[in-house]
Amino acid sequence: MMPNHARYIDNPYVVEGETNPTCKFPAKDDLDALVARIGRRVDYTRPDVYVGASGVALLQLHLGDHARALVVAENALRTGRRLRSGCSFLCDHVGLLSVAAVAIHRERPDDTRLPDLIHRIEAAVEYVLRKDTGDELLYGRAGYLYAIQFLRKDFARDPLGSKLPVVAKQTFDAILASGRRSALARGPPLYWRWRGKTYLGAAHGFAGILTVLLQEHRVFGTVITPEDLQAIKATVDWLARLQTNDANLPSTLESGHADLVQFCHGAPGLVLLLTEAMGTFEDMQKDWLRMAEKAGLCVWRKGLLVKGVSGLCHGIAGNAYTFGALHRATGDTRWLSCRDAFATLAVKLLSQSRLDNPDHPYSLFEGIGGLAWLLSDVLKGGEAGFPAFSDVAER
Ligand SMILES: [Zn+2]
Repeated sequence: MMPNHARYIDNPYVVEGETNPTCKFPAKDDLDALVARIGRRVDYTRPDVYVGASGVALLQLHLGDHARALVVAENALRTGRRLRSGCSFLCDHVGLLSVAAVAIHRERPDDTRLPDLIHRIEAAVEYVLRKDTGDELLYGRAGYLYAIQFLRKDFARDPLGSKLPVVAKQTFDAILASGRRSALARGPPLYWRWRGKTYLGAAHGFAGILTVLLQEHRVFGTVITPEDLQAIKATVDWLARLQTNDANLPSTLESGHADLVQFCHGAPGLVLLLTEAMGTFEDMQKDWLRMAEKAGLCVWRKGLLVKGVSGLCHGIAGNAYTFGALHRATGDTRWLSCRDAFATLAVKLLSQSRLDNPDHPYSLFEGIGGLAWLLSDVLKGGEAGFPAFSDVAER
């Protein structure tokens, strides 16, 4: 039954105050069918990770099909028009170059194209360090820092990767400096705006930027001063306390209300941040875990989105990663059941073609690529980080 609110359908597994669904597990056949559909419809007119061909190559890498990933990445390099001069992993040319570099490195580590690819990615730090570059994930510095994290997992022991920690540190410092410059007299010590607004969620705002910064420190051991660490801690806590009565997070500070529950805006980004931040600030664990679990319940109730069944950015598949993060933080297997329930419902809703009508239906961030990634993680068991965002520790 469709309720009168427009953004989500009621979760059929919800029992008030509980998260304890029992449902059919997604099957390998469901995953195989999605992957076959995606493989037939790679969009080479869009070479980016977010909705384009390099997102498909990245999915193939995740599935362990490195040969297929290489074919798609090479085609994308060859035929894809040049993307805007930016620096982020998800939406700019840096993402295409990074995915191609890893695909080539895994299949042909001695390939002579690799030094040029790595050099071009490193050279994009010039754009990162420009004063007018933003700090957010989708187009800004945090998106570049993620690209360098992604590469370091594969190039850590390769001489070609030796300068990557240097550009990562430059980017890390630039984000912190920008945050301090924009801080207001009354407010958190770090403050970032994008296109004139104070975005709070993962795609354009505080949650995305802070998660990538903390991941840099925790996973790669990037040195951070006690003052900067304290500033990050106070800013995370400030953000967490903006939670609304129903445990959602407003899209912007200016909007004053919160009606979106999706990776890009709202509670999912807060859960991903708080569960990451607990790993660095153990003294905040109790408070932040309570807030993260409340936000997780908000996603459980309001995260079955009408407009995007299968995508990562504003779809059910992306929202499901909230529960994996909570399982990692708590060890409570009920959260994994929630994730599996969302995966199952997304498969079912997609098969009924009731709800899904994205602009890029076969893509990673807006289409069935996201659901394929989720099903592969569900079938592997355990929990995995959010694709192309909070997943560098386990790759
Ligand atoms: Zn979105």
